[in-house]
Amino acid sequence: MRKAHIITIGNELLIGDTVNTNASRIGSILTQQGFYVEQTFTIPDRYEMIISQIRSSMESSSVVIVTGGLGPTHDDITKKAVADLFNVKMREDGAVLEHIREIFRRRNFTFSRSNAEQAQVPENCDVLFNKKGTAPGMWFFENGSALAVLPGVPYEMIHLMEEGVVPKLREVFPGQDVWATRYFKTAGVPESTLSDTIGDLGEFLNNGVEAAYLPSASGVTIRISASGSNSANAAKKLEKISNRLKEKAGELIYAEGREESLASVTGRLLKERKLSVAVAESCTGGLLASTLTDIPGSSDYTEGGIVAYSNRLKTGLLGVSPDDLEQFGAVSKEVVLQMAKGAAERCGAEIGLSTSGIAGPGGGTPDKPVGTVWMGFWFGEENHFALNAVLSKERLINKERTVMIVLETVRKVLLGLDGYPYNLKPFRA
Ligand code: ATP
Ligand code: MG
Repeated sequence: MRKAHIITIGNELLIGDTVNTNASRIGSILTQQGFYVEQTFTIPDRYEMIISQIRSSMESSSVVIVTGGLGPTHDDITKKAVADLFNVKMREDGAVLEHIREIFRRRNFTFSRSNAEQAQVPENCDVLFNKKGTAPGMWFFENGSALAVLPGVPYEMIHLMEEGVVPKLREVFPGQDVWATRYFKTAGVPESTLSDTIGDLGEFLNNGVEAAYLPSASGVTIRISASGSNSANAAKKLEKISNRLKEKAGELIYAEGREESLASVTGRLLKERKLSVAVAESCTGGLLASTLTDIPGSSDYTEGGIVAYSNRLKTGLLGVSPDDLEQFGAVSKEVVLQMAKGAAERCGAEIGLSTSGIAGPGGGTPDKPVGTVWMGFWFGEENHFALNAVLSKERLINKERTVMIVLETVRKVLLGLDGYPYNLKPFRA
């Protein structure tokens, strides 16, 4: 396997101001392309260090990807360092200059000399045209080693890796084995339960097929991957294990593919069934509405809702009974059921969803410890219920998990699937 090194440049990465997401993203893309990512280096914006690290990485590996320090400010010195490393002059790239001018025209910004300097590139590079920003990417191929120098801004870097670097790598290193990867996403099922449901995958893990469980606050994703001489070949090796996963855990898998979110899957179901939803949020403070509306086209099925944090708004805007609030407390099945119904009725939606809980870190009591959440679901007179979960001590994780449980519950109800997330038992009024 050909070796690859990643060099991320920037003082902000070393002192912890910025999380180094570029390194992990590049690592995953190169691995996918069949390279062995041997080392990642994070170094400051320092001229001699940039030169010496790129030089030594190019001597020992076939691919070197560098990000950061291409901006127009004084601390961005990567380009100069690379030109000096190869001992070449700079040239102005006409197409890049015109592109930068155009961006400035469109934004109505004043074009300055330091902006024009971004169109200067080392003579020996091929420009990787950056449609998403002003700093061009640069590609070098010297003594059998490829070097790509990319901007630090993550979405610009990803764009240039996918559109520029990957095609170039395939061109200069033909016949590389490539990886095919598939993702199966689940929500509301613990990793251990999921793995028990699926059973031992040992018999499928041969011939370069790999599987991993990737847990996060928003659910567990199963990743499977295999290498092959081309992508069709590699993808074929994943068929058997994919079928096994779908056969054993089909109802738990809400999406195949890394990019698809639970909100988009649930949203599609709402749209197909021509249903609309309204929310009444206490402990999630608007995160449920925000998550629903992260999806383009969500206005087709999202009416909106009410963030009713205080008891005054729970009664005044949602019609929750003051007596019930007094008797059962805001974090109770009685209250979330009335909130869900109130949201649906007052916003004019078929479905009402509500949340009320003790997000933490303070505010817990012996019968309602931190992490206690009640969620209300109003699907109409004939189907409404409340779910109760005790989540974690972490406020933001509790908000995120609550939203996930609510959306996964809606998905299950709309698909007519048995059971509820985390095997929660519904309370019906
Ligand atoms: P620009 O032309 O936008 O100035 P640049 O190549 O100069 O691009 P930097 O100035 O180093 O890039 O960084 C631009 C932004 O990208 C900063 O907000 C920085 O924190 C972020 N960034 C840089 N490197 C990384 C990294 N390795 N991972 C995540 N974010 C990064
Ligand atoms: Mg920088």
